[in-house]
Amino acid sequence: MQKRQQMVDEQIAARGISDEKVLAAMRAVERHLFVPAALRSAAYADEPLPIGQGQTISQPFIVAYMTEALKLTSDSRVLEIGTGSGYQAAVLAEIAKTVYTIELYEPLAGAAAARLESLGYTNVTVRCGDGYSGWPEEAPFDAIIATAAPAEVPGELIRQLKTGGRMVLPVGSIFQELYLVTKTPSGVETKMLLPVRFVPMIKADTK
Ligand code: SAH
Repeated sequence: MQKRQQMVDEQIAARGISDEKVLAAMRAVERHLFVPAALRSAAYADEPLPIGQGQTISQPFIVAYMTEALKLTSDSRVLEIGTGSGYQAAVLAEIAKTVYTIELYEPLAGAAAARLESLGYTNVTVRCGDGYSGWPEEAPFDAIIATAAPAEVPGELIRQLKTGGRMVLPVGSIFQELYLVTKTPSGVETKMLLPVRFVPMIKADTK
């Protein structure tokens, strides 16, 4: 608890994240329960960590930054691409009404679903599948977040965003930028937020 408070103070609030809902969510979610047991002592460090299958849990600051950029309310319905450990989904679930999250790798999807259930997150649904297709049955969404990087913004995800909705995702291959895409009545507005490094969003047929 003390380590988590320190993480929020030193890595997140001190770097400009000011949305109280985001700070409270980052204080609440027990990050050490989302990392492999052997890495538990590093759970609150200022860095990404490996979670198996060659994948990583993002640096705490990036989780907070992306969450803040979505401008969630307690009514928001959110889609996440790249469940991984389920940590980002839990942070979203602390703030939003419902979270739908898609993971390509079955072992990660299964472990994340079990973990989120055991922690009592009843407003998160995990599906194993291909994020490029989104989740058409539950669309449209108020907010979409991807934690794996496609080469360009997937058109299907724009279609599944509500007008006025916000999508935050890393875009690019070797050099990536975090994009904020806002859907307008006539199209989209795209803003580049900061340079980042994420794992690639894998094309399901090349897995
Ligand atoms: N949000 C995660 C971080 C995940 S890293 C967390 O908080 O732990 C990115 C994840 O995206 C990886 O688990 C990877 O397997 C997944 N991924 C990559 N390509 C994907 C795709 N096409 N569809 C769904 N998930 C994908």
